Amino acid sequence: MAQIIDGKQIATDIKTSLKVEAERLFPLVGRRAFLTVVLVGDDPASRSYTRGKIKACEFVGIDSDLLEFPSSVSEEELLKAIERLNEDDKVDGILVQLPLPAHISKQKVIDAICREKDVDGFHPLNVGRLDQGYDCISPCTPKGIMRLINSTGVETEGKIAVVVGRSNIVGKPVAKLLLQANCTLIQTHSHTRDLDSITRMADILVVAVGKPGLIKGNMVKKGAVVIDVGISRCEDGLLHGDVDFESTAENASFITPVPGGVGPMTIAMLMANTLECYKKRNNIL
Ligand code: NAD
Repeated sequence: MAQIIDGKQIATDIKTSLKVEAERLFPLVGRRAFLTVVLVGDDPASRSYTRGKIKACEFVGIDSDLLEFPSSVSEEELLKAIERLNEDDKVDGILVQLPLPAHISKQKVIDAICREKDVDGFHPLNVGRLDQGYDCISPCTPKGIMRLINSTGVETEGKIAVVVGRSNIVGKPVAKLLLQANCTLIQTHSHTRDLDSITRMADILVVAVGKPGLIKGNMVKKGAVVIDVGISRCEDGLLHGDVDFESTAENASFITPVPGGVGPMTIAMLMANTLECYKKRNNIL
């Protein structure tokens, strides 16, 4: 039976150590780190994620601000607001909560955030630097996934890692991080044939699709480390992952629950990225 990777506890431990780090940095810089979260529209899920991020800032000792716009805001107005945040010296991190309304180009908005304040790590310059293995801000969810894998003590070197999903925010960047950790990597997606036989090869299986129960126990190799990134609210009103927990836990050596696995780590890594931007902007290495 698999051991559960307690993402909630690991995220709390990380935030507690970041709080100590924030306290240490405060007198050196003369002000606290500052994160601005931009929220467009009134999507309840986005609002709830945003609240979680602001609450985490309060815990760690990062000043924060929520900049809200109605869903009718024009692209031009939003881009101008981002430009102002880029120029505001006290702002260390800018996070635009996704998704955005259809009339606003997500790519233009991401491109507009200056690289030094891109706490999500979505700017093409950060993405390119991650690809090359250069120093950069890594996206929060993939970075959190790697911390969860490392927490198991399982060696990544030479292991077969299978990533199910190839989105820009999870699948592709986590694949790059697994490669950097010297895994042998296989990336699968919606056009992959015979997914079962590929997932069964995985020593480390990361699933980021958004289809509840896609991965069943018989698709997982005995002893695999299984990281379930998926979060879907289903008809029963509960949150479900992409992995069928019960059957998979029988085969895996380690498994993340949903909720309480990857989700809390994403927020903890956002805090880490904000402090990283703050330190770099203030020449503290
Ligand atoms: P996305 O919709 O952008 O991408 C989904 C990917 O799954 C695509 O690359 C697609 O090719 C692939 N896919 C679809 N069907 C497939 C199949 N049958 N077999 C293999 N691959 C298939 O989604 P996303 O933004 O990467 O998010 C994925 C899931 O992770 C969602 O449930 C999302 O809510 C969740 N998520 C969680 C966190 C967190 O912090 N826990 C963060 C981001 C996303």
